Formats: sequence, structure tokens, C-alpha cells
Amino acid sequence: TESLVIKDLHVSVEGKPILNGVNLTINRGETHALMGPNGSGKSTLGNAIMGHPSYEVTGGSIEINGEDVLDMDASERARAGIFMAFQRPMAIPGVKLADFLRHAATNVRNPGRKEGEDLIPMREFRKELKEKMGQLRMDTEFARRYVNDGFSGGEMKRAEILQLAMLRPKFAILDETDSGLDVDAVKLASQSIAEIGGAEMGILIITHHDKLLEQNTPNFTHVMLGGRIVETGGEELARELYTDGYDRIRADHPVEA
Ligand code: ADP
Ligand code: MG
Ligand code: MG
Repeated sequence: TESLVIKDLHVSVEGKPILNGVNLTINRGETHALMGPNGSGKSTLGNAIMGHPSYEVTGGSIEINGEDVLDMDASERARAGIFMAFQRPMAIPGVKLADFLRHAATNVRNPGRKEGEDLIPMREFRKELKEKMGQLRMDTEFARRYVNDGFSGGEMKRAEILQLAMLRPKFAILDETDSGLDVDAVKLASQSIAEIGGAEMGILIITHHDKLLEQNTPNFTHVMLGGRIVETGGEELARELYTDGYDRIRADHPVEA
């Protein structure tokens, strides 16, 4: 199987060290939950994997099947099969969701394509989009709206899930918005991720909603504290943390806390 392998990763933001040696291996077909208190570095890890320019890797490595990911720019990483749903997604006024998806899908599926070359044929793309939106029980009108422009929390989540379905990445990092989703929206998101992810994606879910993990039972749960993964366990660890919070973790790892 293919794997995303992170070794001793150190990341700084504006010269300040945030990640202090993260080790994590995600195989395709596995679901990993990443938990940890606010500010522990979860989003930073996602941003570093995606190649966000503000996050400077100062040590360690990220590889997919031995291929150096740190050498790639953000769009090369997307083409290598890595996808991230951001905690705070950007609005792109003037760009319709359908057009955005057509460009993104073309980019991911035709790795050798140069800017300006042909997109996936419109008819083919529309057919697929309609099919996917049907499966996800989405109104096709939704794809005519501008990307994230005035979207509610639930709509942003649905747009992300539609991206996931259309791009079918090898590895997906889902950095969840912690608020703005009602119980039904979380349930629908959870179900959709399980349907799309199936057996072939490697998924890293960052979430404070235990509902999201209900249908995406993690094979592994990792706890981040002070820029390190201080504990790894199974689904029972996620359950413990949702019930009891992080006091025990802090007590057991005083250096990071
Ligand atoms: P989490 O997602 O676990 O809540 P983050 O990765 O967002 O944590 O943040 C970890 C630390 O890095 C925090 O102290 C945060 O302020 C800092 N940080 C993250 N991103 C930035 C950024 N773009 N600019 C400045 N500081 C940042
Ligand atoms: Mg946070
Ligand atoms: Mg975060």
C-alpha cells in the first residue's frame, strides 16, 4: 500500500518553532484522528503537509512512497494525491464552485498538463458532478454559487465533501470547523466521508466532534500537545478524550504541556 510518511518534522511560523518533531505514518485505507487542545499545532501540521508558504519546515521529512513531498509546491502536492479541507476555507468571489472543481479535477487527474491546456470536457465533467451531487444528496444549484462566498458552516462542509468526492485524493486531511454545524450536518458529513473515503483513502481527521468519528472509526488516534504527538492509541483514546478532556494528557506529558 501507498503511505504518507512524516518523520521528525519541525515547523516554524514567523521564526517561531511550532512543531517540534512530529512522526506519523498514514497508509491508504486507514483513518487517523488527530486530537489535542487548541494551539497544540494540529492545523500547522496540515498546512505544512500542504506546503502553505507561511509554514517553514526547518527539519525532518515528508514522503509519499519514498518520494520527497517537501520538494513539491502546493499544486504538485495536490497532483501527488494529497488533499486538505481547511479549518478556515478561503472565499473565491466570482468563481463558481463547478468551475473551481473542474479546474481542480483537471489538475489532479492530468499530472503532466500545463497551465492553459484543455480542461476535462464540459459534458463529461457535468455528468460526473451531477452524479456525485446526487449521491451526496446535494441540490445541483449549489455548484453555481461562488466558492465559499457567504456559505454557511454547513455549506462550506458540503463544498469540501464535494471536492473530496470529485478529486478522490490518495490522502485527505480534514481540518474541521469546530462551530457552525448542527447535529444533522455533522451526521451527513460523517456519512459522506465514510462513503467517499471507503477503503482506498488515507484520512487524517482533525475534529472536536465525536459525531464525525462515529461513522469513520479511527484505526489510530493521535494526541498532539506542544507541537508533538505525545500519545497514539485506537478509537478508545478518542472516546476517552471526548469524555474527559486533556487533563490526564497534560499531567502525563509535563514537558509538552
Ligand atoms: P491547533 O490547530 O491545534 O489549534 P495551530 O496549528 O492552529 O493549533 O496553532 C499552533 C500555534 O501556532 C499557535 O500558537 C498559533 O498561534 C501558531 N500559528 C499557527 N499558524 C499561525 C500563523 N499563520 N501565524 C502566526 N501564528 C500561527
Ligand atoms: Mg484549533
Ligand atoms: Mg486548528
